Amino acid sequence: MNFSDFYQQSIDDPQAFWDQEAKRIDWNEPYTQVLDHSKPPFAKWFVGGKTNLCHNAVDRWVASQGDKPALIAISTETDTEKVYSFKELQAEVMRAAAMMQSLGVSKGDRVLIYMPMVAEAAFAMLACARIGAVHSVVFGGFAANSLATRIDDAKPVLIVSADAGSRAGKAVAYKPLLDEAIKLAQHKPAHVLLVDRELVPMSIVEGRDVAYAALREQHMHAEVPVTWLESNESSYILYTSGTTGKPKGVQRDVGGYAVALAASMKHIFCGNPGETYFSTSDIGWVVGHSYIVYGPLIAGMATVMYEGLPIRPDAGIWWSIVEKYKVTRMFSAPTAVRVLKKQPPEFMKKYDLSSLKALYLAGEPLDETTSQWIASELGVPIVDNYWQTETGWPILSIARGIEDKATRLGSPGVPMYGYKVKLLNESTGAECGPNEKGVVVIEGPLPPGCMQTVYGDDERFVKTYWSNFKEQVYSTFDWGIRDADGYYFILGRTDDVINVAGHRLGTREIEESISSHPNVSEVAVVGVEDKLKGQVAVAFAIPKNGDAVATAEGRKALEAEVMAVVDKQLGAVARPARVHFVSLLPKTRSGKLLRRSIQAICEGRDPGDLTTIEDPASLQQIRSVLTE
Ligand code: AMP
Repeated sequence: MNFSDFYQQSIDDPQAFWDQEAKRIDWNEPYTQVLDHSKPPFAKWFVGGKTNLCHNAVDRWVASQGDKPALIAISTETDTEKVYSFKELQAEVMRAAAMMQSLGVSKGDRVLIYMPMVAEAAFAMLACARIGAVHSVVFGGFAANSLATRIDDAKPVLIVSADAGSRAGKAVAYKPLLDEAIKLAQHKPAHVLLVDRELVPMSIVEGRDVAYAALREQHMHAEVPVTWLESNESSYILYTSGTTGKPKGVQRDVGGYAVALAASMKHIFCGNPGETYFSTSDIGWVVGHSYIVYGPLIAGMATVMYEGLPIRPDAGIWWSIVEKYKVTRMFSAPTAVRVLKKQPPEFMKKYDLSSLKALYLAGEPLDETTSQWIASELGVPIVDNYWQTETGWPILSIARGIEDKATRLGSPGVPMYGYKVKLLNESTGAECGPNEKGVVVIEGPLPPGCMQTVYGDDERFVKTYWSNFKEQVYSTFDWGIRDADGYYFILGRTDDVINVAGHRLGTREIEESISSHPNVSEVAVVGVEDKLKGQVAVAFAIPKNGDAVATAEGRKALEAEVMAVVDKQLGAVARPARVHFVSLLPKTRSGKLLRRSIQAICEGRDPGDLTTIEDPASLQQIRSVLTE
């Protein structure tokens, strides 16, 4: 079938289309209604059906391929490598599930997972799915304040964590950050389950903290049956940055997500049972949820969980994994490819990469140079795909499982089945024609797998995503353009979210953190183009005491202090690349920060319409501090 017919079916008759796709997963009880869209923009998929993510990812494969690899946990940080078969994975997940139950976790309870890329993190996620607990994975690179906000929002009964992560061979302690976060949070979890990797010593809080290894010993032979869940119950919450300082908890369902992933594994990622999938992301991000843990396993594939850098011990490490485990489908981000491009090319040539069929890249715009370089090095198709934490699976791509449609450099592709993508003029809301820039929106109902709501805040879901235009459409907050042949190009965010090395960060969160420094009275953070990371955060701060920044040494010292505050509160991932000091920030007469003008100046572009600016001298200050 050609893709446009396939796509059209999904749009003309979504119920028939998804009814067909739903056969890709096991249902314990059939659904009675494919779609309930009676309360838009909320969409309920596969109403009344009972299923379970863990069953579909693990148990389903135990009978047919129980001894085949399921989870391949590799750490070049600790030089460990362990392959778990589907049977072994099931046993570990049942142990983890029994451990959680013994700590009082039951269906519907939240479990926060703050873990490095170790197998136990995947066990914990799958164990939650098994017993119907709702997991909320927080990226290990986030620090105490970020963690505390998420604890207070999710109110977990249990936190699963570890003594430390590791980066470039250096242990990064997690436990002190976690203790600090729990101290800062209003909500106190009853228990903390701790994997001790023996990387750093841990202080233990009596009565609250429990050792993973010791508790596991007590549940070695645990048999925990799957809890069948109604399709629209919740599987997880994943926090993502928005335009306010408060992260949004993207809440996902069970059945719709399982179907969407199974379908995408077939049509977009073309994975088959028994093959190996390798995604280089982290479980703290949506790619880690969809395409490290759930997607590949639901497709019966082995999945690689990799802890380490792409260039350590050398730039051949990923390719050695591809060779050793005969990886067929690999998923990474453009930044990682740009890092590899700087390395001598022989590292790639050393390995037999003949198993690899395609490389998928997402998370940030894929520039032509990077795309062409990696395509010629690997000799396999490079498949750009555009999506968001909110959607859980690609909005734009090329569905090579349906039709090997040509790709177009610089474009992630065309709308995927189920997504009614449109471009709307930002101010008039009128639909854009070919080559006309607009906001990328999706007409409801969103297809299966997309967010159900903002956790605990339906109103915020409707207000944030569905109320930006006269007609009720979902806004992606991305600018886009479509060529005459229907290929889309993504041109950056419409809001104050920035994208650093494929990681989404809210400038407001960084600003709030910087403002907590005692010598900062005001600050603006913007995303500035960067050759390697796509974008980096750059801060412009007004010090309370100007004397502190009168000299170059003073500025340097305060800059370091501000960076340390961000490291401590949010994590190094959010640390601005530079902190400049000014006495004035560009604002409109009504006091709104002109972030886009600051960003334009930083990138050497025209600052745009300045008719509403309060004091034009502020722009001059930005220009001059940039040359310091
Ligand atoms: P996240 O929710 O962290 O996955 O970030 C989603 C955002 O990353 C999108 O709204 C886009 O701004 C950006 N993004 C993701 N994938 C792509 C892509 N393939 N091309 C361009 N931008 C992308």
